[in-house]
Amino acid sequence: MPLSSSAPRRGGVRAARTPDRAQADRVPRERLWIDFVNTDAAAQGATGDLLRDFDALVAWLEERGAVDEERGGGVRRRALLQPAAAAATLVEARRVRAALRALAERGRGSDKVRDDAVAEINRVLGRSAGTRRIEPAPEGGFTRTFVPTGDAFAGLMIPIVESAADSLLAAELPRVRRCADPRCHRVYLDATKNGLRRWCDMGTCGNRAKAARHRARVAPPPAPVRRA
Ligand SMILES: [Zn+2]
Repeated sequence: MPLSSSAPRRGGVRAARTPDRAQADRVPRERLWIDFVNTDAAAQGATGDLLRDFDALVAWLEERGAVDEERGGGVRRRALLQPAAAAATLVEARRVRAALRALAERGRGSDKVRDDAVAEINRVLGRSAGTRRIEPAPEGGFTRTFVPTGDAFAGLMIPIVESAADSLLAAELPRVRRCADPRCHRVYLDATKNGLRRWCDMGTCGNRAKAARHRARVAPPPAPVRRA
């Protein structure tokens, strides 16, 4: 039965999440799939792609509670034995991420982009076999977990695409957009009441825009150009 076979994993989930919490609380969080899009090189700028190798992918998923410690350790050990399969999994993760970036940036305005992303989500979901569960979340409420029974690598993207699927089901897509700062490629979900949020983060891009508006207000008018 799934219940007895997954019981040790449940313990693993709790043990894995507790120490991660303090670190995770410092980062403003979006939906899992939106944060996943924001790991790419476009969003990260000078830092570069956060998913630089397979280990980094697993570490990111662990930090976000999408993979528990026990499973993370398992896929890392398997990656050592099957480096080509691990490399292919990383390529796959980046491919999913690119489809989700297109969905976040242009999905609300383009049926084609949305359909392509849905096809990608369904492709990943279609390859998964395992047990879906809900578990009490450390911050309260509940979280979904997925314990794959087949190919452990193939199941790694499940929580990401399920998060995107949840956003589509909840009709959140019209509220998902890219930061208004043209230099910033981060995407976010606007959860404000009025739907007028413009920046990925008020602390960075929002403040920069505010400062720029202030400078424009207080700057003296340009000196008249004198012609000889
Ligand atoms: Zn921004």
